Amino acid sequence: MQDISRAKSAELYEKSKTYFPGGVNSPVRAFKSVYGTPLFIQKGDGPYIWDADGNQFIDFCASWGPLILGHNNAKIREKVTEVMQNGMSFGAPTALENELAELIIKNNRFVEKIRFTSSGTEAVMSAIRLARGYTGKNKIIKFEGCYHGHSDSLLVKAGSGLVTFGETSSAGVPKAFADETIVIALNDKQAITEAFAQFKGDVAAVIIEGIPANNGLLIQDKDYVEFLSETCTANGALLIFDEVITGFRVGFEGAAAYYGIKPDIVTYGKIIGGGLPVGMYGASNEIMAHISPDGGVYQAGTLSGNPVAMAAGIAALTILSSEGFYEALNAKTEAFVNDLKSYIAEKGYELKIFTVGSIFWFAFTTKDIKTAEDIDPTSMEKFKIMHRELLNRGIYFGPSGYEVGFVSASHTKVELEKAKSAIFEALDIVFAN
Ligand SMILES: *Cc1c(COP(=O)(O)O)cnc(C)c1O
Repeated sequence: MQDISRAKSAELYEKSKTYFPGGVNSPVRAFKSVYGTPLFIQKGDGPYIWDADGNQFIDFCASWGPLILGHNNAKIREKVTEVMQNGMSFGAPTALENELAELIIKNNRFVEKIRFTSSGTEAVMSAIRLARGYTGKNKIIKFEGCYHGHSDSLLVKAGSGLVTFGETSSAGVPKAFADETIVIALNDKQAITEAFAQFKGDVAAVIIEGIPANNGLLIQDKDYVEFLSETCTANGALLIFDEVITGFRVGFEGAAAYYGIKPDIVTYGKIIGGGLPVGMYGASNEIMAHISPDGGVYQAGTLSGNPVAMAAGIAALTILSSEGFYEALNAKTEAFVNDLKSYIAEKGYELKIFTVGSIFWFAFTTKDIKTAEDIDPTSMEKFKIMHRELLNRGIYFGPSGYEVGFVSASHTKVELEKAKSAIFEALDIVFAN
């Protein structure tokens, strides 16, 4: 099959490279792990996007997660348009912040008080500061394979050994910062026990993605997450669920409800803003009392609680909080994934699909995958071929085999059937090579 035309995208990319490092404003957009130059997107509607060359795609990237209702949702667009008539930002409180907060707090058993930020990174960075301010301790334990945004103390990867100080995973992060972050493997109770023993009395928090979904989909056993929670409690450390990707995705109350485990602090982002930049962290009244101006932990934002962004969040979360929303979306995803699994089984292809809620991930392996180390980097060559074949057949997946895909409420039987046929064909090509 001939490759789709990317002439206009390629032209825009040549220009963008003169303006931005790598031609992009966020690295993974640069298509470094797949074939060809990045597609420049012109518009989106429901499950579809169109690029600058007029190619149409069924989109499973969903702007990396936020678009659970699909592109250009009419309810969100109308609400945003209405609110914009009154101005875009005041740097003073508005009733819209109350409205979004009420929608969240009333429908969520895990937060009593919240603070809005403008991104997931900011939310997590602030949650970490809050945990340190609340406990008076310094060290943070994080997991290899979990992404928590690009703040300094979280851009760390595991060193060698079971329990190690993190090594910076980005130039420009001082070693002293990385030394405050302990990085251990997921799905390993012994590593948790050892980390707490080694840094006794100085662990402020353990941070984990509710369900790790930024480096493949690494679904953890409930028993393990429970152990994590109990160990935190026993050691006077806080458990932070970073639910920037899983919040409002696997259910309105995210992974905390999925596991039935109460984190001490929770962070949200992505879906919460209905496609506009919003992040949030929240906890009990008692913990949140430590945030400025009530308490001594400083955190602020010129555009935090921005009325236009709040409007988008209100419109989105109103739909998400309606009866049966998640049941329908999750059932639709399950049926889609089951059909893919049947095809894979019938053909005997070396490929597993991991899924939870409306998230799915293609792993070119037959092993169970629970940790970052379980992922074979050489398997990404297969993803690369699949990605190209899918683009040629009008299906858009995020441009990296480590990224998950999302089904949105706007995907209908028509798109899912079309996607299935395209995926079958793409896989036949991947495994014919
Ligand atoms: C996307 C993501 C972040 C970062 O959010 P940004 O809005 O990109 O800053 C943090 N944590 C998790 C779990 C995420 O998925």
